[in-house]
Amino acid sequence: MTQLPAPGSTERTRVRRLPEKAVTDRAALHQVLDAGLVAHLAVVDDGQPYVVPVGYARDGDRVIFHGSTGSRLFRALAAGAPTCFTVTLLDGLVLARSAFESSMHYRGAMVLGSCSLLEGAEADDALRLISDHLLPGRWDDIRPPSRKELAATLVLALPLDEASVKISAGPPDDDPDDLDRPVWAGVVPIREVFGEPVPDERGAAHDVPGYIAGWAR
Ligand SMILES: Cc1cc2nc3c(=O)[nH]c(=O)nc-3n(C[C@H](O)[C@H](O)[C@H](O)COP(=O)(O)OP(=O)(O)OC[C@H]3O[C@@H](n4cnc5c(N)ncnc54)[C@H](O)[C@@H]3O)c2cc1C
Repeated sequence: MTQLPAPGSTERTRVRRLPEKAVTDRAALHQVLDAGLVAHLAVVDDGQPYVVPVGYARDGDRVIFHGSTGSRLFRALAAGAPTCFTVTLLDGLVLARSAFESSMHYRGAMVLGSCSLLEGAEADDALRLISDHLLPGRWDDIRPPSRKELAATLVLALPLDEASVKISAGPPDDDPDDLDRPVWAGVVPIREVFGEPVPDERGAAHDVPGYIAGWAR
């Protein structure tokens, strides 16, 4: 098995700004990708950069996502247009004693490369994986995609060959001269939570499925 480069180990992915926040093990890359639900996918079309939010899943050493065959951006990605895929997890606000040092706690992953188009059984499996990542336990309860729906869907994979991870944590990095300023300083954590399920009133009423109770952020 070929060894994939460590995050941040290529010229394009080496973290230069605040390099102490770079994390270079692949386990951390996988953890950030597994913890996120939404990624942002860049593509340049006719000289104009676009950034598209997408749901996704990690499948080993690649990420997978899907889009419409009607989308020019997804068609460009399917044709091999270079992309930059990012996942950002916001963990807190850092309230420093100066505006300059005020910042955020975050975990971020960035992947560079080109996508490949998945087809047939590989595309079917990928769609299930995306559902399992976003909605664990749901797939077996719902109608699977029809042939027509599959024909309208592009399923893409992006290898995790060239990636970087940057994690920001810890207390405010205030200048020693600012420490005695008469102002509170510290970190306000941010947590994502699922709310109470709201039933769709159309169709027959059903109990809320048990697997939702296990969903946590
Ligand atoms: C929630 C959040 C808020 C932020 N707010 C700001 C802000 O307001 N102003 C600001 O200047 N910066 C902010 N950052 C940091 C920003 O993402 C960049 O890291 C920073 O601007 C340096 O970019 P650069 O291209 O000059 O860095 P460089 O170090 O030159 O980038 C080199 C390589 O490092 C990797 N890299 C850079 N940043 C990241 C990242 N965030 N995640 C993963 N890999 C990365 C990429 O592979 C990149 O090609 C924020 C980050 C997050 C996650």
